Amino acid sequence: MSDQLPSSDRLPSSDRLPSSDRLPSSDRLQVVNPATEETVATVPAATAADVDAAVVRATRAQTRWAALAPGDRARLLRRFAATVDEHLEELAALEVREAGHTVGNARWEAGNVRDLLDYAAGGVERLTGRQIPVPGGLDITLLEPLGVVGVIAPWNFPMPIAAWGTAPALAAGNAVLLKPAETTPLTALRLAELALEAGLPEGLFQVLPGHGPVAGNALVEHPGVAKIVFTGSTAVGKQVLAKGSALLKRVTLELGGKSPNLVFADADLETAAATAPMSFLDNSGQDCCARTRILVQRTVYDRFLELLAPAIEAVRVGDPSDETTDMGPLISRTQLDRVRSYVGPDATGIRGKAPEGPGYWFPPTVLTDVDPHARVAVEEVFGPVAVVLPFDDEADAIRLANDTPYGLSGSVWTRDVGRALRVSGAVRAGNLSVNSHSSVRYWTPFGGFKQSGIGRELGPDALTAFTETKNVFISTEGPAQ
Ligand code: NAD
Repeated sequence: MSDQLPSSDRLPSSDRLPSSDRLPSSDRLQVVNPATEETVATVPAATAADVDAAVVRATRAQTRWAALAPGDRARLLRRFAATVDEHLEELAALEVREAGHTVGNARWEAGNVRDLLDYAAGGVERLTGRQIPVPGGLDITLLEPLGVVGVIAPWNFPMPIAAWGTAPALAAGNAVLLKPAETTPLTALRLAELALEAGLPEGLFQVLPGHGPVAGNALVEHPGVAKIVFTGSTAVGKQVLAKGSALLKRVTLELGGKSPNLVFADADLETAAATAPMSFLDNSGQDCCARTRILVQRTVYDRFLELLAPAIEAVRVGDPSDETTDMGPLISRTQLDRVRSYVGPDATGIRGKAPEGPGYWFPPTVLTDVDPHARVAVEEVFGPVAVVLPFDDEADAIRLANDTPYGLSGSVWTRDVGRALRVSGAVRAGNLSVNSHSSVRYWTPFGGFKQSGIGRELGPDALTAFTETKNVFISTEGPAQ
C-alpha cells in the first residue's frame, strides 16, 4: 500500500489534480465544491501503513536536513516561499474550489503561506541558544530539532493552518508529515509538490490525506513522531492530548472558540457596528476566532442594533469566485445541517440573504433576545450566526465575556484607554484586539487560554517550539596536578 501513497513525488500538478483518481484505492476522499455540490476530485486516503512508511522516509530526510548549513536550509525555504508566490493564483483558485473561500480570502491565504515560509527562513540563522555563567567552565544551551513532526490540520483554513506548523518546524530542522482535513486535501498536496519543485529534499515534507481516526490517529500514536501540532475541535484535541501523553509526545493544540465582541457605550458605535458583521461572517463564520458573542452595553443596545441591521443586510453572499462576494457557502452539508440546528423557527433578530439552489448556503444571522445559557450562546456554531447580549457595566461585561469554557480571541470597543487595558487584561483569552478585530499575524503569537488550546504558534518564538533544549557544560579545569 505504501506504493499508493499520495506522496509528493508522485502527485499530479494542480490542473491534473483530479487525476489522482487513477491511483487505485479502496478508500478515497471525495472533494466537493461547496458552492456547487460538484465533485472536484477524489484522493486516496492514507492508511496506518502509509503513515509508517512516511515516517521512515521522513526520518531519513530529517537527518540530512538537520545536518545542512543553516544558510542552506534558509535558502531552500525562501525558494519554497518564492515558488508558492509564483503559484499564488493557482493555489487560491484551488482553495475557492475545494473550500468555497472567497477569492480575496483565498489569495490572502496563499500569500500567508509564502510569508510564513519567508519569516521562518529568517529564523534559521537566528535560532540561538544561550551561554549561562557557571563556575569551573562554560555552560551553553543548544536548540536541537525534535525529529519528525505531525501536523493535523482542519478544513476551515487549510493552507495557512498547515503552514503555521510546517514552516517553523522545517526551519528548526525537522521533517513534517501533514494530514489535511478529509474535505480539503488539494492545496496541501499541491504545496508538497511545490516544495519538491523548490528543491526541498524528498521525504522532508509529505502530505498524508486521510481520515482523522485512521491517518491522523496513526500519526498521534506513532513513536517515531516526536510532536503533534493539532488544529481542530476541542473534542478531538482532547483525544490527541490523551493519546500523545502515553508516549510523552509534545502536543500543541489550537481548538475552538466562542469569542466576545465587547461594545461599550463610549465606543465609536458606527465603526463598531460596521465592522461587527465580518468579525463573525468572514469565512462564513467557520473561523475559530469569530466574534460570535456581541456584548453591548445596555444604554446603547438599541442604537447598536439599528446600526448593525443594515450592515448585516449589505453583506454579499454568493459565488466565492466573484471578486465582489463577501461570504461564500459553508464547507459541507453536514456543517449546514449543524448550523441550521442552532436557529429555531421562533428565533428573532437580523437575517441577511443567501442564494437558493445547489451549495451549502446559510444567511448571515444575528440573534437577539437569547438566553445567555442557550446552546447558540454557549457552543461554537462554526457558521454565520452570532448572538447579541446586553451588559450593564464593566464588571458585568467581563463576567459575561469570561462565561465560556473557551478563551481564544476577543475585541474591546471603547474610547477610554484605561478601560481598554483593564478589560483586555481581565478577559481570559489568548488574542485580544482593541477597536479592531485582528487576531492573526504571522509575526505575533497566537493560541488559546482554557479549552481553546495549549501552546502558542506563530510569532518570534515559533521555531523554538519545534526544538529540544540541550544543556552542555564544558569544564575549563586543567588536569589535576
Ligand atoms: P476536527 O477536530 O473534526 O478535525 C480536525 C483535524 O483532525 C482533521 O484533519 C481531522 O481529520 C483530524 N482528526 C479527526 N479525528 C481525529 C483523531 N481521532 N485523531 C487524529 N486526528 C483526527 O475539526 P474540524 O471540524 O475539521 O475543524 C473545525 C474546528 O477547528 C473548530 O472547532 C475550530 O474552532 C477549530 N479551529 C481552531 C483553530 C485555532 O487556531 N484555535 C483554527 C482553526 C480551526
